[in-house]
Amino acid sequence: MRGTTKRRVGSTKDEYAIRLENVCKAYTVGIPALDDVSLHVKKGEFVFIVGDSGSGKSTLIKLLLRELVPTSGKIYVNGMDLVRMKRHNIPKFRRRLGVVFQDFRLLKDRNVYENVAFAQRIIQMPNREIRKNVPAILSVVGLAGKYKAKPKQLSGGEQQRVALARALINKPDLLLCDEPTGNLDPKNSWDIMNLLDKINSNGTTVLVVTHNREIVNAMQKRVITMKKGIVVSDEEEGEYIDED
Ligand code: ADP
Ligand code: MG
Repeated sequence: MRGTTKRRVGSTKDEYAIRLENVCKAYTVGIPALDDVSLHVKKGEFVFIVGDSGSGKSTLIKLLLRELVPTSGKIYVNGMDLVRMKRHNIPKFRRRLGVVFQDFRLLKDRNVYENVAFAQRIIQMPNREIRKNVPAILSVVGLAGKYKAKPKQLSGGEQQRVALARALINKPDLLLCDEPTGNLDPKNSWDIMNLLDKINSNGTTVLVVTHNREIVNAMQKRVITMKKGIVVSDEEEGEYIDED
């Protein structure tokens, strides 16, 4: 059967959404931001990543987005080998991911509808589909009535829900969130985390970097704790561990 097996980019039989094997990342020679990190996240899991500032959490997110490549080690996301991935395959790979950041990163001069529609225009979704999909996802995040508003007319919590709608509209397999509630008050933080939980229960794998101790302890999810570039604990139904 020589020569009959063909590997398709994007095809995946991997039961893991994320696999890191002995990953090191050093921005400066000799100083690792990540130091021999191995971790596996199964498809459909919800995982919190916690740890002090500077412990390597955002570096991990950037590696998973293929914004960075590791200094050594292997990374697979949805079965795809990110170290060997060709540059021209990166945009296609990223279409399967949703990303949310602490600072929302909305287009300031565009309204809510356009901010969300933008993600669909990138994948060349026809306009008639966009006109159906945007209102549907805005109602999921509780913003159905706000589609004409500009970001500065919205509260922080509303802006983050727009960012979440934008991250979700292309139906990602994996949602990566880097301190999504870092700029929000407790009520809005809970609203966002409850939405993430709901999205996860519909099958999307969700990884959330956070400092929100109260929410982590209440939600009883898997908790991975990082310290100085190392995974120091990984617990099912874990708690936010005090490092002091
Ligand atoms: P966290 O998100 O947990 O706060 P980061 O992943 O941002 O941590 O940073 C981990 C380490 O890598 C820190 O020591 C930080 O100073 C360093 N670092 C992060 N980004 C860069 C960069 N672009 N250049 C050099 N060092 C960096
Ligand atoms: Mg960070």
